[in-house]
Amino acid sequence: MTRPSFRYSVFALVREAFREHRGWPRAWASPEPRGHYQVIIVGAGGHGLATAYYLGRNFGIRDVAVLDKGWLGGGNTGRNTTIIRSNYLQDPSAAIYEKARALYETLSQELNYNIMFSPRGVLMLAQTEHELKGYQRTARANALQGVDTRMISPAEVKKLVPIIRLDGPRYPVLGGLWQPRGGVARHDAVAWGYARACSDMGMHIIENCAVTGIDTTGGRVFVRDLVRVRVVPGAEFGARQEEELKHRVRLRLGESVRVEVERVKEIERTANGKFRAVVSKIGAGLQ
Ligand SMILES: Cc1cc2nc3c(=O)[nH]c(=O)nc-3n(C[C@H](O)[C@H](O)[C@H](O)COP(=O)(O)OP(=O)(O)OC[C@H]3O[C@@H](n4cnc5c(N)ncnc54)[C@H](O)[C@@H]3O)c2cc1C
Repeated sequence: MTRPSFRYSVFALVREAFREHRGWPRAWASPEPRGHYQVIIVGAGGHGLATAYYLGRNFGIRDVAVLDKGWLGGGNTGRNTTIIRSNYLQDPSAAIYEKARALYETLSQELNYNIMFSPRGVLMLAQTEHELKGYQRTARANALQGVDTRMISPAEVKKLVPIIRLDGPRYPVLGGLWQPRGGVARHDAVAWGYARACSDMGMHIIENCAVTGIDTTGGRVFVRDLVRVRVVPGAEFGARQEEELKHRVRLRLGESVRVEVERVKEIERTANGKFRAVVSKIGAGLQ
């Protein structure tokens, strides 16, 4: 189901200021996982969430779940240097870097979420002859690829960054590779903005859900994250034994796997007469 979209605006900010910010809705929903999705994306970082968002926006595919073993954006996306640039060397990847950089220009407006993109320019200093030659090569390659970068002299560097010491402290500045439309953005806000938009489209963002395996059986994909252990309890089986059992299962499968113990009267047998002692719920349900 699609949630009604909440518009962030200066009016909303003023309104909330007057009611102690108690009216902000949750940015994205935390639904119970369904048994089946058309698309399941593992990892709610920038790539996973962007994939979900553009699947929905460009292709109308909205029956999507994004699973993350931790919190959303808590991987590399939430801890990087925040630089946005496309001044790379190789022809095969130049277009995708430039496309990605250009998307940042309007992403805050598109998502109605401030990703704090600031196209203040990116300057990479050459401090050895080797670096200088490398950056000159990149600048020429970028010119052929249609990417707006150029080499600038030490004097131009000083003009852009008056605080800089061109003669050191360790190595002199010999020049700089300058990309005027590069900049910085808050990458975890990028993840939050995409998550909010995905949630608005009815997609499921499911945190604290580690995928421990992917089975492909009969042409269908099964994702595993929850293990239910069915137990016929004896008289001595109490809470302590249950915790010990869960602990042992997690030791084998990983700490982030959810383990549930289900007390049953008997364990059903499979068609060939064997016991089905452990059932992976998601493995059976997410097809
Ligand atoms: C120190 C550092 C500085 C960087 N600086 C920059 C920079 O300035 N500019 C730039 O553009 N890039 C930079 N990068 C690179 C950039 O951060 C990454 O390329 C980008 O964040 C990758 O996004 P992602 O979504 O692929 O991965 P991640 O953000 O790492 O997301 C992967 C997600 O998958 C989840 N996950 C993993 N395994 C499972 C599982 N089994 N089940 C469920 N979920 C799982 C993780 O919890 C995580 O949230 C930097 C990276 C680092 C480490």
